[in-house]
Amino acid sequence: MTETDVVVIGSGVIGASVALELARGGRSVVVVDKGPAPGAGSTSASSSIIRYSYSTPDAVLTAWESAAKWRDWSGHLGVDDPEGMARFVPSGNLLLRTVGWDGSTVMALWDEIGIPYETFDAAQLRARFPGLDVGRYYPPKRIDDPAFADDATGELTAFYNDDSGYIDDPMLAAHNLAHAAAHHGAELRFRTAVTSIEQRDGRVTGVTLDGDDSISVPVVVNVGGPHSGIINAMAGVDGEMKIRHRPLRQEVYAVPAPPGFRLEDGGPFLADLDVGLYFRPQAGGTLLVGGTEPECDPLEWIEDPDDFDELPSVELFETYMLRLARRLPEFGVPSKPVGLAALYDASDDWVPIYDRSGLDGFFMACGTSGNQFKNAPLAGQFLRALVDAADAGIDHDAEPVQFTGPLTGRTIDLGAFSRLRQPSVTSGTVMG
Ligand SMILES: Cc1cc2nc3c(=O)[nH]c(=O)nc-3n(C[C@H](O)[C@H](O)[C@H](O)COP(=O)(O)OP(=O)(O)OC[C@H]3O[C@@H](n4cnc5c(N)ncnc54)[C@H](O)[C@@H]3O)c2cc1C
Repeated sequence: MTETDVVVIGSGVIGASVALELARGGRSVVVVDKGPAPGAGSTSASSSIIRYSYSTPDAVLTAWESAAKWRDWSGHLGVDDPEGMARFVPSGNLLLRTVGWDGSTVMALWDEIGIPYETFDAAQLRARFPGLDVGRYYPPKRIDDPAFADDATGELTAFYNDDSGYIDDPMLAAHNLAHAAAHHGAELRFRTAVTSIEQRDGRVTGVTLDGDDSISVPVVVNVGGPHSGIINAMAGVDGEMKIRHRPLRQEVYAVPAPPGFRLEDGGPFLADLDVGLYFRPQAGGTLLVGGTEPECDPLEWIEDPDDFDELPSVELFETYMLRLARRLPEFGVPSKPVGLAALYDASDDWVPIYDRSGLDGFFMACGTSGNQFKNAPLAGQFLRALVDAADAGIDHDAEPVQFTGPLTGRTIDLGAFSRLRQPSVTSGTVMG
């Protein structure tokens, strides 16, 4: 039987980051992933957008601090991956202000933290982004709604942050983190599933793996992405969670970008809660298009994360495409869906859970709600801070760990990501 200091379950972008930070801290780490490679789970489907438009100070700071690490990726990792390095691609982030979401909370937080932005009225928006229809169509509608084709009821304003962008290859980013973790001594085991969490007297003692192997270990971190609910249930800590997290099916499409919105045009990434979409440029003259959970689109909760339809549906594809055509009138709707379906691990308030649990030695980084790729660098450091605190006898539930952001020197209250928190007030969507 293997013995180690920590087992990290999952080698997605967040699991690999947790493994790196714990290994950097001098612990012996074994990463166990049932998939074939780092980032092959939900990370591989990520739109990997880097933005700062969250509803709470801790979330904005986490994204802003993490972005500095993406920009200096080699410096953050300390070692280059022979398979190549993921790259931050600047694209800017245009956020349309509408009835249901006017962005005022975000702008107030950006003012407070010093995140720069510009504001645009409708005329300025038209001048800066000539291909954009600046009409207000709120609320988002289904295409079978007779009001779908109604004229605009006014014009939108917007704000824009130039420091946003995306990571060109999310799976490679996870590989880079896993490679750096291995460089610091972490052992990576793929095609190996954790099947149970062993415990005695309220403490973790080990994990059992498929094939009847096992590891004796006092600290386990659950970073199982959409499977993390199952793993929390294995550990018997699901009952204490005040915040639920569940797999939620999402579709993302790759479509031809009209002029002005291609990668070579410089972006932008657009958040459009007025029609219920986001899109960002990517290589090959295409846009990646996803949804923002408008009320009219039913949420597709999934019982078993190993059993869901991975192909995009024609109905949702048509809905997204016609919404996109509304916003970008020069967009030519493709005849066939090209895209994928994947799972978020969505929490009740769309804020992640980075926390300990009532089972000593069992930690979790889950409920990442379709918006935590960007925060992987800090999420790893948060989990290390939580494990260190527990080692030092600090009860994070009673005395929440405070994390100092190295870029801003500001404090991030890790209690904001507690499984026991009151739900945070957020947009109630993937925007967080
Ligand atoms: C379609 C989509 C678009 C997104 N877009 C963005 C975006 O633009 N910006 C952003 O910031 N975030 C985005 N996200 C969210 C972000 O990608 C995720 O939060 C992040 O990738 C989660 O990483 P993870 O390491 O927690 O989980 P995962 O990448 O899902 O990894 C979990 C791993 O755990 C393994 N595992 C599960 N169960 C077991 C077990 N029992 N034993 C061993 N291994 C196990 C799996 O094999 C898997 O590899 C998006 C997500 C999706 C799905």
